[in-house]
Amino acid sequence: MQLLTIEELGLEKSEWTAIETALTAGRGLVVFAGIGGSGKANTQHTAFSKISGPGKCLIAGEDVATLHGPSTNFIKLEPGAGRNLAGAFKAEAAKAAKSILVDGLQNAMEVDIALKAAAAGHLVLGTMDTPDTAATLAALGAMCGNSGPDAALLASTLTLVTAQRLLRRPCRDCAVPAGDGKGDGAKFEKGSGCATCNQSGYKGRTAAYEVMPMTPALAALLKAKAGAAAIHAQAVKEGMRSMRDAALAKMRQGLTTMAEVRTL
Ligand SMILES: [Zn+2]
Repeated sequence: MQLLTIEELGLEKSEWTAIETALTAGRGLVVFAGIGGSGKANTQHTAFSKISGPGKCLIAGEDVATLHGPSTNFIKLEPGAGRNLAGAFKAEAAKAAKSILVDGLQNAMEVDIALKAAAAGHLVLGTMDTPDTAATLAALGAMCGNSGPDAALLASTLTLVTAQRLLRRPCRDCAVPAGDGKGDGAKFEKGSGCATCNQSGYKGRTAAYEVMPMTPALAALLKAKAGAAAIHAQAVKEGMRSMRDAALAKMRQGLTTMAEVRTL
């Protein structure tokens, strides 16, 4: 876990602006999604670090508060010792906080707890292990009802969903310029490997993002428990760039290869 710059995260300016807008609102639920190893927690922590002023609280299983300085309160999750997410949100440090970072929203109960805090006026930043924004919204919708979150409350409180995947960068010392005849616009192909890249052909990473600000139409789909395909189609219609298109753009900038894009 580390704090990166917006550039190091591989976020483009317009993508960061959309995230910043959600943070500036000062309340609501923001979800950073991605499969394991996608770097979503780095993005979440970097976003949290950009929120200025006191009144910040971090709820996590490991002490990563040092990343955020002494003014950020830390509440350690220890389910085995009786400190679960519900207990953490009842702690004074959480109740007094303006913005709260939560390490993972694992199930309907945890989403419900974070949602109620966000609806009460906190800005809550959580993570989910879903592969893209539409799958995240579909998963959230499917959790609603019965003992899970209230769909209408979720639809009015969720402000933004991001999702991401890491892409390996071609090693600058051995990458092979891609031929013009390919038609996909790739600048480089993976090289055969060298000492710089430990013979792997890749060195370093970038990330492809989807950034989905909530809109009335997306909120309606969430309430209707729509599937991921319908949500994705609506989001793209409203201007969201798909993760695949984001990855292709990174490839055309020479930041990754077609082989990496195909792993999405
Ligand atoms: Zn190399």
